[in-house]
This record gives sequence, structure tokens and C-alpha cells, in this order.
Amino acid sequence: MFELKSPDLLKQVASALVVPERLVLTCHVRPDGDAIGSMLGLGEALESVGKEVICYCQDEPNQTLSFLPGFEKLVHEPPRPFPAGAALVVLDCSEADRIGRHGQELVDQAHRLIVIDHHLGQDMCGNMQDKTGMHCVQYINPDIFATAAICFAIVEQLGWHVSPEIATNFYAAILTDTGCFRHSNTTSLAFRMAARLVEYGADPYMISDMLYERVPYRKLALLSRALRTLSLELDGKVALIHVTPAMLEQTGGTVQDTDDFVRYARCIDGVEVSAFIKEVRAGQVSVSMRSRSWFNVAEVAKGLGGGGHFHAAGFRQPGSAEQWRSRLLDIIAPLLEAHETGDRTDA
Ligand code: 5GP
Ligand code: MN
Repeated sequence: MFELKSPDLLKQVASALVVPERLVLTCHVRPDGDAIGSMLGLGEALESVGKEVICYCQDEPNQTLSFLPGFEKLVHEPPRPFPAGAALVVLDCSEADRIGRHGQELVDQAHRLIVIDHHLGQDMCGNMQDKTGMHCVQYINPDIFATAAICFAIVEQLGWHVSPEIATNFYAAILTDTGCFRHSNTTSLAFRMAARLVEYGADPYMISDMLYERVPYRKLALLSRALRTLSLELDGKVALIHVTPAMLEQTGGTVQDTDDFVRYARCIDGVEVSAFIKEVRAGQVSVSMRSRSWFNVAEVAKGLGGGGHFHAAGFRQPGSAEQWRSRLLDIIAPLLEAHETGDRTDA
């Protein structure tokens, strides 16, 4: 058994999963490895104890995730009608809007809401309080590296069998959300869970190979164009990189091909804040922000209508990539300056 903080709350969530015969599992828009791995792993575990499960996510995941067991069961249209008496299980996000355009509709129809997440600052059950008759339980733990880790702890707590299929999903989720055990969220628990999942049948070599060693050529063509936009700003503390619709068109690259482009800005020595600005279509950007140590990118993203974690966050806004390069610098510059002034005062 894995000890997570607030064990009573975790127990409540585990018990809530046992009650309903039908469950609709869902996650955030533009789902990543953790969202999909959590959904498919927990979905498989629930099915193996006889539950009817629907796994719904609004957007098609990156095709690199298509090797995950159960991937073919994902649906991209919300179940209509919503299955009678079903619980809605919200994974890797804790806001109806982050589920997508049908998020609120799903939440409104569910008899029971179960939220499992590791993002900062949301209280989905608290926001539900005025909805009478709704049973809502949530386990939100921003200290944990992946939502799948919470799901795995719950499955273990319930004493359910962990098949190689379940283990593969959870392992892939943990691998992706810890950046292959390199991000600041990587703890000893991440390694202990990974070890256990390998014992349960997850194949580390196969999973890494599928996730990281099967890159389409068009992605590198797109990356080579994006790298030409890479710049160092504000005394080398900030790095920016972007992609425009023209680059996508020239290379045949897809938006999903850009999933990890922010790391080329992030990895430069001396950079504290990095941002990848993706102009998805003309006049609409989706921005990924990262920080190395003290800078809280979740705060900046939240102020712009997005969210995330202290060291990794994002938002969507109207505007072009060029416009957002300068807007971001305008927002970040005073924060860097305040920090440096603070440092001098402390000294
Ligand atoms: P990424 O930059 O990899 O897309 O996202 C980094 C983190 O920020 C993830 O944890 C993701 O959930 C969060 N995030 C990214 N975009 C948004 C957004 O538009 N809204 C919210 N609430 N979170 C976001
Ligand atoms: Mn996650």
C-alpha cells in the first residue's frame, strides 16, 4: 500500500468508486499521457470488477499514446443520454470548463461526482455546493507527480488486481508527467510506484520506445523552424520559442507534434522562465510556460485565464505569437525585477 497524504479523503474517494454500477470517466481537453493513462488504467480496473465504464475525452489524444491498452475504447462524443445512475469521474483536472464544451452538461447530469487531480487551487466539490442532491467527493493533491499515482494508490487500497494493461497505462502516465523522472515533482514514491508497476507487467523499454523513439519526420521539420524563433530575453533569464500556422502548413506538422517544444527553451543554462507560444490558428495562441526554480508560472497562467502547476502551466488567449512574445515579457519583467530587488534587500 502506498501512503498518500489525507488518507481518509483517499478512502472516501475509493469507497465512492465502488458504489455505482456505471461510471463515465473523463479528463481535460488536449489530454496528455497522465490524463489518458489515468483514465484507461482506472477504467480497466473498474471494468475488471464488473463496472460498466465509458471513457470520454473531448479531444483526440496524441497518436503516440495509441499503443496504450484500451485506447480504442476512448470516445470523443459525450454519452447521450447520460447513463442512468452513473457517476462522473473527473481525472487530471478539477474544473468543468477544462473537460471541454460538454463539461458542464456532464457535471449537471451526474448523480455522483468523483474528482481525482493534482493541479493547484481548484475546489470542484466546493463549487457544487448549491447543487442539491449531488454527491461529490474529491481528492486533489498538488504535491503528487501524476493523477495516475493517485489512481494507482486507490486501486491498491481497494485490493483490486493490477493487470499488465492497467500497469502499462499507469506507468506511461507517471513517466510522462514526471518528464521521465526528471521534473521537480519526481519523488521516491514515483520510483517506488514505477517499480511496482513493472512488477505488475509494465514494460519500461517498450513504453519509452513507443512514447519517445517513434518521432515522425515532419515533427523535426517543424522543430527546426521553431528553433529559428528561439530567443533569450531579459538578461538570459527568459527564453521564448514559437510556432505559427504558416510553419505548420509548410511542414505538415500537427499541433500535437509541438507537445514538448517548450523544453528547448526551458533547458538553456541560466533560464528561469520559458514559454512556448503556439499560434494554433491565426490570432489564437496556446502558451506553455515553465520555470526552473522560484518563479510561479501557475500564477501568471491563472491571471490569463489558464492554470497548472508552480513549474509548468499554460493558458489560451486571442492574439498572434508575435504579440504574445512581447506581452509575456511585459508581464514577466517586473516579476523578475521584484524578485531581484527582494534578493538584494534580503542580503
Ligand atoms: P502544457 O504546457 O504542457 O500544455 O501544460 C502544463 C500544465 O499547465 C499542465 O498541468 C496543464 O494542465 C496546465 N495547463 C495548460 N494549459 C492550461 C489551460 O489553458 N488552463 C488550465 N487551467 N491549465 C492549463
Ligand atoms: Mn497530470
